Amino acid sequence: MAVHARDRRHTLIVRSVDGMMIEIKGLSKVYDMGRSNAVRALRGIDLFVGAGEFIGIMGPSGSGKSTLMNIIGCLDRPTSGSYTLDGSLVSSLDDDELAAIRNKKIGFVFQTFNLLPRLNALQNVELPLIYRGQPQAKRRATALEALDRVGLADRVHHRPTELSGGQQQRAAIARAISGSPAIILADEPTGNLDSRSGEEVMQVFQDLNNGGITVVLVTHDENIGRHSKRLIRLWDGIIKADEVVTDRAIAASVLERMPPVLPAPVALQSTLGAQSMYVS
Ligand code: ADP
Ligand code: MG
Repeated sequence: MAVHARDRRHTLIVRSVDGMMIEIKGLSKVYDMGRSNAVRALRGIDLFVGAGEFIGIMGPSGSGKSTLMNIIGCLDRPTSGSYTLDGSLVSSLDDDELAAIRNKKIGFVFQTFNLLPRLNALQNVELPLIYRGQPQAKRRATALEALDRVGLADRVHHRPTELSGGQQQRAAIARAISGSPAIILADEPTGNLDSRSGEEVMQVFQDLNNGGITVVLVTHDENIGRHSKRLIRLWDGIIKADEVVTDRAIAASVLERMPPVLPAPVALQSTLGAQSMYVS
C-alpha cells in the first residue's frame, strides 16, 4: 500500500516498495493524430524494475520500445496509468519537475552518440556538469574519472572525429554517468557499431551495472539483448514476455574469445596515406 506525502518542494512522493527503481502500472500511451485518428502505442503496461537490475527491452519495429523508453526517461508522459521512478510519482509532474528529475536520475545513451563535434571528449563530458553549476576543478575531476571508467583515460583530448565509433559511444556513456544517475537508459546503443566495438560497449554497461547502476537497454539485436539479466518482449504495445536471461552473455568473456584486431596491411596503409595526401 503506497503512502502519499509531500516533500519540501511540494512534489508528490510515493513511498513505494523498497528497492524498486521503476514501478509502472496500467500504463498506456495514445498518440492523437487528429480526425479521430489515434495510435495506441502502449496498451496497458505493468513493469516493476528493482534497483541494480539490467533489463533489455526487445520487440519488432513499431512495438512501442521507444515510446516506453521516452516515458521511463521522463521525456514524455503516459496517457493513463502511473509511473513511479525511485519513489517519485513522475506521471503527475509538470514539465519543470519532469526535467529536474530527468537531470538528476537518468543518463541517456543514444544510437548516434550525440557528441558535439567541436568539443573534445573531456569537454563533451564536462558540458552537462556546467549546466549543473559544478565548479570547474570539480567538474574536470568528475569528467576525467568518468572517462577513466569507460577506458578512455588516454583519449580525453581527442575530438569525436579522432575517435572510433566504439570510443565515441564510450565517451557518450562517460557523459551519461558523469551526473551519477540512478539509471542509464540506452536506446539501440550498439546499432551503429561493429561487433567488437558493440561488445566493448556492452562490457562498459555490465561493469557499471556491477557497480550498482540500473541499466535499461533497448535493442532489436538478440545477441545484444542476451547481455542483460532480464528481457522484456514488447508486441504491439503490450508486454508479451518477461523472462530471466539464463544464458547471459558476459562481454569480457566474449571479447576474450574474439580474434585479435590486426593492423591494416602495410600496402593498404600506404595506399590510404597516398589517397589522403592526394585529397588534402
Ligand atoms: P519502436 O521503438 O518499437 O519501433 P515506437 O514506440 O517508436 O516503436 O512506436 C510505436 C507506435 O507508435 C508505432 O505505431 C508508431 O508509428 C507510433 N508513434 C511513435 N511515435 C509517434 C508520434 N510521435 N506520433 C504518432 N505516432 C507515433
Ligand atoms: Mg524505436
